[in-house]
Amino acid sequence: MSETQPVKPPVVQVQGLSYSYGAGRVVLAGIEFDVADGERVALVGPSGAGKSTFLMHLNGLLPDRLPGDTERASVIVSGVPVRKSSVAEVRRLVGFLFQDPDDQLFCPTVREDVGFGPLNLGLPRDEVLQRISTSLKDVGLAGFENRSTLQLSTGERKRVCLAGVLACRPEVLVLDEPFANLDPRARRGLIEILRKFPGTQIIATHDLEFVVELCDRVIILDDGDVKADGSVREILSDELLIEKHGLEVPWGLRAGK
Ligand code: ADP
Repeated sequence: MSETQPVKPPVVQVQGLSYSYGAGRVVLAGIEFDVADGERVALVGPSGAGKSTFLMHLNGLLPDRLPGDTERASVIVSGVPVRKSSVAEVRRLVGFLFQDPDDQLFCPTVREDVGFGPLNLGLPRDEVLQRISTSLKDVGLAGFENRSTLQLSTGERKRVCLAGVLACRPEVLVLDEPFANLDPRARRGLIEILRKFPGTQIIATHDLEFVVELCDRVIILDDGDVKADGSVREILSDELLIEKHGLEVPWGLRAGK
């Protein structure tokens, strides 16, 4: 008799997530989907589709509309409903890489920046130093501890941000346009770092070649709603579908390739 493996619950559950900035137009219109443990999901769609707004909900970065304890939460991460009272816990679970390193880096040295998250988690100093050194090594910046964050290239600054996120050992990595403003070598370096990260990843990107190379699944978001959700090959080789949402079939999936 074969033993059945227990089914792991989804790491991220999104249930009827809607959002508008102030009294403005609806930016997210009732989004629904689950993400399984260890899945690498790409979120694609035209600019203004709501991708960044969606990602920010994953760790409570839009505090004005976080539900209170008695209200239904639209996002659940590792079984924790994202609410006002759970933001600190959710941020331990979800590591967020902002599109612009300027939104993330604020300490004078690389050591302080990468150590900020682990210190905030209340970890002992030795453990923090250990994590700084390991994370910098993981992103290819070993020995950068004393460098000023202001005197690094865009690619290096992005890797420092990622080191700070990885140093907190998140279960879910959320990345907003990680390849924006990176040259080909820096982009390649970042892809290799993401390839090694074992946890769940949700990545908003316009870089469809990356999606073909590394992602398991792709979700098209447009006009604040999920327009398609499936395997990378199935969705991104559907020319009519993806052109409708402002995208192009990536080289690797073009007919005749
Ligand atoms: P994407 O990441 O897909 O480009 P965004 O989530 O950044 O989309 O934006 C979705 C919509 O929300 C856009 O119309 C944008 O102008 C609007 N928006 C984004 N941030 C704000 C904000 N802070 N205040 C008001 N509107 C915003």
